[in-house]
Amino acid sequence: MLNIVIFGAPGSGKGTQGGMIAKRYNLQHVSTGELLRKEIKNATELGKTANEYISKGQLVPDTIVIGMIEELIKTTTGVDGFLFDGFPRTVTQGVELDKKLEENNMSISKVLCLDVEENELIERLLNRGKLEGRADDNRETIESRLDVYHNQTQPLIDFYNKQGKMSVIEGSGDINAIFQSIVEVMDNLL
Ligand code: AMP
Repeated sequence: MLNIVIFGAPGSGKGTQGGMIAKRYNLQHVSTGELLRKEIKNATELGKTANEYISKGQLVPDTIVIGMIEELIKTTTGVDGFLFDGFPRTVTQGVELDKKLEENNMSISKVLCLDVEENELIERLLNRGKLEGRADDNRETIESRLDVYHNQTQPLIDFYNKQGKMSVIEGSGDINAIFQSIVEVMDNLL
């Protein structure tokens, strides 16, 4: 099994590249952001709780996202591994992900970190707000999401560096060129 984390700041291209990787390597694309937006759209209890955090650019509590991931790891079949997109976002989530995978005789194979300059991130997110109308892609929420990334998510870089699993990918420029750099790293794992 090939279990990959696509890692990076909001707007770094995790969703786009994650989708392309999942397709090419037959991985289950797991985006906690997408799963949470689906819950909000369906107006479930979980969705209502999640929306209180997402609309402010804050992280949804660890227990909620970890529960969602645990369920998926246990029940997904017919794929060659998982592509985790936007998860983990805290060191606690990273530790729990390792545990849940281990319980199912798996582990993280690689963490691909998309590196994009902060100005470009803000520009991309504002642009996505206009194009896709995502409620949290407005200037105020973007600022708080970037703060959250620096304070709560970036410590995971050290966590995965210590495990020797981190690969930094230049995340600016042409989408297909970025994907080619990812493919080089991925093919080395096979
Ligand atoms: P994304 O689509 O990955 O940018 O996620 C959108 C929003 O969903 C984030 O700003 C968080 O509020 C929430 N979210 C997504 N993934 C997580 C996670 N792993 N932990 C906590 N909150 C999350």
